[in-house]
Amino acid sequence: MNYPKVILKSGKDQSVRRYHPWIFSGAIKKIIGNVNEGDLVMVTDNKDEFLALGHYQIGSIAVRILTFKDKEIDAGFWKDKISKAYNLRKNFGLAENKNNNVYRLVHAEGDGLPGLIIDYYNGTAVLQMHSIGMYLNREAIIEAIKEIYGDNLKAIYDKSESTIPFKSEVEAKNGYIYGSSGESVVLEYGNKFKINWEEGQKTGFFIDQRENRKLVSEYSKDQTVLNVFGYTGGFSVYAMQGGAKSVHSVDSSKKAIDLTNENMELNFEDTSRHEAFAVDAFEFLNDIGNKYDLIILDPPAFAKHHNVLHNALQGYKRLNIKALEQIKSGGLLFTFSCSQVVSKENFRKTVFTAAANTGRNIRILHQLSQPVDHPVNIYHPESEYLKGLVVYVE
Ligand code: SAH
Repeated sequence: MNYPKVILKSGKDQSVRRYHPWIFSGAIKKIIGNVNEGDLVMVTDNKDEFLALGHYQIGSIAVRILTFKDKEIDAGFWKDKISKAYNLRKNFGLAENKNNNVYRLVHAEGDGLPGLIIDYYNGTAVLQMHSIGMYLNREAIIEAIKEIYGDNLKAIYDKSESTIPFKSEVEAKNGYIYGSSGESVVLEYGNKFKINWEEGQKTGFFIDQRENRKLVSEYSKDQTVLNVFGYTGGFSVYAMQGGAKSVHSVDSSKKAIDLTNENMELNFEDTSRHEAFAVDAFEFLNDIGNKYDLIILDPPAFAKHHNVLHNALQGYKRLNIKALEQIKSGGLLFTFSCSQVVSKENFRKTVFTAAANTGRNIRILHQLSQPVDHPVNIYHPESEYLKGLVVYVE
């Protein structure tokens, strides 16, 4: 095929040769041919040697690479990539499992498909496209998903309205692009959750916390548990399942709290051990005394860009001080950050500073990350974003 050609400056081919999937605009020497946003382009070094094929976009990341081999990007390409992603989920027990029908099918760069997220919710695939190139390939992507799932697919919902660059010419609108509203209750490790992908945050659920929620259930027996930034009560349901004495859920969104209560009803006949509060987390934490044995802090990404990193770290510090100061002696704090720009080291340092502030004896028991359906491409360290620590507080 004859693609427009993106020629890199001398020396700027190094990261591509190490399979990093992004070309920054500053690395480009010149572009030959007429190129529009979303087009497939060929990337070469400054001696015209082939390096990769990818989607072109205006912005700091100019090319998102689809393949480092000179091959056609046709229906077979999409089918192959998405099938490989599906097989990984199947091999690790997430797909075709009667106790689990919610998982991330495609995790962008982590599955070799930069700009594409696909989450599977018991028959409905929710697509979130972050690049114009992916958006323009929707038809081929939909065909591949349909072929892979057959009867196990009832609907495909496109939720790219807020993730496609807003200045672009494609006008993404949220809506069903196949089938219509399907079953909204999913099973995660046998726990039921009602998902609202049309109105909920992200694609509807924070699937990335599955394994960490399970760990909470293992530590919850007879504990008084506080789940802060609970969203729809994921951690709370697992704590209840694990036999907690009481569970309190806190989220500033009234809608999230309503769904938390619904999720409790779905799973437990008697929900009297649970109580949910639609209030600000920082305010709630001002005065909790020492009544909690186990506290979960899973705030939204405080920093989306490097320039606000300092403020974000201050936010994490304040929050962790409040929890570490007040948690019961012998208590466990599960503390997370999902900001991509906050590194594992930075997060740990922040929790360290918060710990030192309290003067308590604190030990790290677990260092948590993201699950197998959110794989980290080793050549793209940026795909690792979820970090967590479980600390024991004397
Ligand atoms: N732990 C959840 C995901 C948390 S997402 C899970 O496992 O599903 C972050 C949540 O924090 C969102 O639901 C958002 O409504 C809530 N939130 C954001 N700012 C908040 C604040 N200041 N106080 C309380 N909740 C807040």
